[in-house]
Amino acid sequence: MNKLEGAVTNAQRKTNNVEFLMPTVGEALGEHQKDLNAKLLSRGRLDFIKYLESVKGQLTQEQFELVRSSALDYNNLMATSDKLHAKNIETKYLLLKRRFFLAEDNVVRDRKNSDSLVCEPDSIFDLVLSGHVKNGHMHWRRLHRNLKMHYANVTRDFTQLCVRYCSKCNAEKKIPPQQKYRHYNIYSGLLPLERVHVELISPLAEPIEGIYSHILYFRDYHSRFVWMLPLKSDNVKDLTEAFSTFLLSLPRIPMFIETASVDRQLLFEICEKVACDYSLTLGLGMSSSRFFQRNGIARLRQQLKSNSVQCIASWPMCLKNGAADHNRSYNNRVQAIPGNLLHSQVSDYVRQFEQKREKLIEKLCATNVVVLRKGGRRQGLLYLEDETTAFHMPDEDYSSTEYDTEGQFDTPINNGSSRSSSPRAQSFIEPTFPSSRTVQLLSDKPEVDLSPDISRRASASGSVTEQNTDDVINASIVL
Ligand SMILES: [Zn+2]
Repeated sequence: MNKLEGAVTNAQRKTNNVEFLMPTVGEALGEHQKDLNAKLLSRGRLDFIKYLESVKGQLTQEQFELVRSSALDYNNLMATSDKLHAKNIETKYLLLKRRFFLAEDNVVRDRKNSDSLVCEPDSIFDLVLSGHVKNGHMHWRRLHRNLKMHYANVTRDFTQLCVRYCSKCNAEKKIPPQQKYRHYNIYSGLLPLERVHVELISPLAEPIEGIYSHILYFRDYHSRFVWMLPLKSDNVKDLTEAFSTFLLSLPRIPMFIETASVDRQLLFEICEKVACDYSLTLGLGMSSSRFFQRNGIARLRQQLKSNSVQCIASWPMCLKNGAADHNRSYNNRVQAIPGNLLHSQVSDYVRQFEQKREKLIEKLCATNVVVLRKGGRRQGLLYLEDETTAFHMPDEDYSSTEYDTEGQFDTPINNGSSRSSSPRAQSFIEPTFPSSRTVQLLSDKPEVDLSPDISRRASASGSVTEQNTDDVINASIVL
């Protein structure tokens, strides 16, 4: 099979969703062995072990053997690494003791990874390669997604590294030095609830509880905290209702709403209606964090699909699998538990949050800020992130995609630049629903001198009408 055929098989595998053939520890490469460059494989095995030993927290072969033979003690452990000494041996010992255990089936398992199987370090390279060749030279990311379901210690980096030594896929035999993948929260600079993305998803084959065909999914950028609401349809009425339910249940209104799956024009109209109906100050974001958004969608789809029977039968099971479990578990991407991060004490959070919003509204040009009116009265404020000065946020790199996004998105994604497809405030000077009138902030002559003040009050209260201020403060700050 040449490289091209390999690619075709791979593509077929993707579309046909063929079942993954899980490799077993110690499995030989078999018939594939002769197709692969033996020299490259031997080099790979050595390079891999050298790399593994440099990774913190990974069991080395010697340590693995101590666990497997129940011979783990201070002395034995000390001998496995020159980095261990009298001062740190106890910690390391307790760590290993608590985490790894010899299960009844005589294999080593990892408590931190749902008791999944620990592959003997010396066998990881061949395990990964077997999985790769058995599954039509599967891409390392997809391969990792499958392997990690079964093996506790086959990491993303390991999979990527090992697959490089497949001479079919890497005909030029170029092996770049493996970069250690470091997790850190790429959105640590944002405040909790500063930016939230909303996605419309229908991840299951049948409606949930026979009623809900769609799910509205929300995720906070900073904390990765997830919320979900069930939808009976994807029509505007249901979307608007769920969207307002979500916003009005939050301790504060996010500064920016983003989306990868909802038509931006539609989202604008929904935001406009909700902001006006409930006197909210809302922003529509323009960030180009497409991978981050798609990764969120892909993760949810995967979580629900892998528990699809339970999830179709019960909405609370969807909530558990898609949101609650995620919100309460340690998340590598943020190095914390999303639920803790959402409620963590950012010092002076309330003041920081409101000042940030105030500043950003002030910076926006007039055409991007829309004062909403109802019955002649100012009610609600909608602003659009500026196209030229949009905050350039980092995105999750495609290579850090934890879950493949090969699945079809339920709603067409605006593949083109989100900027060019964004609604312009000017287009909404005319009312889009009967009871409201939309005007540009600075064209609203009587108030023109007050605009900075309006922004300030609007940002603090969600409303620019004096008499409503107190009510709305309560509505937007107290749950
Ligand atoms: Zn290959």
